[in-house]
Amino acid sequence: MQTIAHWLDGKTSTGSSTATAPVTNPATGVVTGQVALASSADVRTVVEAAVAAFPAWRDASLAKRTQVLFRFRELLNERKQELAAIITGEHGKVLADALGEVTRGLEVVEFACGIPHLLKGAYTENASTKVDIFSVRQPLGPVAIISPFNFPAMVPMWFFPVAIAAGNTVVLKPSEKDPSSSLWLAELWQEAGLPDGVFNVVQGDKVAVDELLENPAIKAVSFVGSTPIARYVYEHATASGKRVQALGGAKNHMVVLPDADLDLAADAAVNAGFGSAGERCMAISALVAVGSIADDLVSRIAERAKTIRTGDGARGADMGPLVTAAHRDKVASYIAAGESSGATVVLDGRAVAADGAADGFWLGPTVLDHVTTDMSVYTDEIFGPVLSVVRVDSYDEALALINANPYGNGTALFTNDGGAARRFHNEVEVGMVGINVPIPVPMAYYSFGGWKNSLFGDSHVHGTDGVHFFTRTKAVTTRWLDPSHGGLNLGFPQNH
Ligand code: NAD
Repeated sequence: MQTIAHWLDGKTSTGSSTATAPVTNPATGVVTGQVALASSADVRTVVEAAVAAFPAWRDASLAKRTQVLFRFRELLNERKQELAAIITGEHGKVLADALGEVTRGLEVVEFACGIPHLLKGAYTENASTKVDIFSVRQPLGPVAIISPFNFPAMVPMWFFPVAIAAGNTVVLKPSEKDPSSSLWLAELWQEAGLPDGVFNVVQGDKVAVDELLENPAIKAVSFVGSTPIARYVYEHATASGKRVQALGGAKNHMVVLPDADLDLAADAAVNAGFGSAGERCMAISALVAVGSIADDLVSRIAERAKTIRTGDGARGADMGPLVTAAHRDKVASYIAAGESSGATVVLDGRAVAADGAADGFWLGPTVLDHVTTDMSVYTDEIFGPVLSVVRVDSYDEALALINANPYGNGTALFTNDGGAARRFHNEVEVGMVGINVPIPVPMAYYSFGGWKNSLFGDSHVHGTDGVHFFTRTKAVTTRWLDPSHGGLNLGFPQNH
């Protein structure tokens, strides 16, 4: 049985701890490896590698850094199928979806290839007489990335291309549920010519996370995961004086107005509700049907959802299994809770006949209608293939629902009314908004991030926010020619 190890100084290491956790193929239920769980001492060793590599990488020219990034981009593009297969084998999402995840990560690498332009500072001549000022953006040092199971390649790639391009060194702590992508990416960096110690991986659980949050050598933490852990990471890492962006969970609403194209809306609801078995932070989980269209919309959604083939993601299914048996059981228990509190089960995924091994973690697409805001299927992030339909009478009621929700990651409005769309994107309290687009994940040159309990911290991810997060600004004031000899003056410096 393979051991999925740490990566530091350009090679794998199992560390000193003997603790491990099983890694499973969710489509078969078979344990495929054991991931090392780092002790605090193991984490410190990995951090030391990142500390040692920082001075030389910080001083590497932008030409050198971008050469490595361009090479990494080429290699990743050539070999993305390999990475997609690793993702499917440990996460369960279907191959096409895994490939889509890699492609969205690749976009961030491409964005980071333009780092020389993004790092340009400002210069002001003669701010005072013969006094010039310029500003530069400098890297922070070793930074930590702590990522969730649901995007084992893309989420780390939201951060590390920008962090590395800006001159930082990185310690990635992937999810222990699907850790192998991280090592594949580490080897690819090495092949691309990244100096050893710039990109490191520590495998582990809470023990590893806690050391990263407190280790004084780590200057910033980028976290993505559930809201309770995001809040914990934000509070603890900021208390240790670090810069932190901690992205949390979501409950994304899709509002369908009566004038919408119902076929478009039904397609979108099914794609965004059941893609990746609903295990996406931008998945649609609450469908808000406005006015008299609800019956028609629900039947169009159910018709489509019934045609989804649930099965082994490596064998061409539409939707794969859930990540673990425990998670599948938890999601199924939400369906039971919804049913017993009065929701109508229009389509029941618990009865799915999956095209895959008997021990796979299967749950088919589920549609619940007449869901009310006090039901746990509405209040909680389920993170599975369960679409809850909430019926309301007006746009204002739909908007009020979303704005009252503690999460604010993504939302979408389906309509043919430009005025309603304009009102919606202006009034809604959510970080990423789609108009007739159900999963509005911004391109790499915009920034990704939610509001409210979906993100703790000030910076969104990639785009200019990402560059700002991974650099700090220095302003330099200089006087070279004809210095004035004004003699002693203890007053606050003023320009003249
Ligand atoms: P999780 O919070 O369980 O784990 C995330 C990371 O935190 C993992 O690396 C894990 O090892 C670590 N961790 C878990 N428990 C911990 C603890 N008690 N102390 C310290 N560290 C701990 O999340 P998950 O189940 O892997 O991922 C799914 C969640 O991530 C969902 O809530 C989803 O919405 C969210 N997510 C959010 C975004 C976003 O952009 N906002 C993106 C992807 C996923």
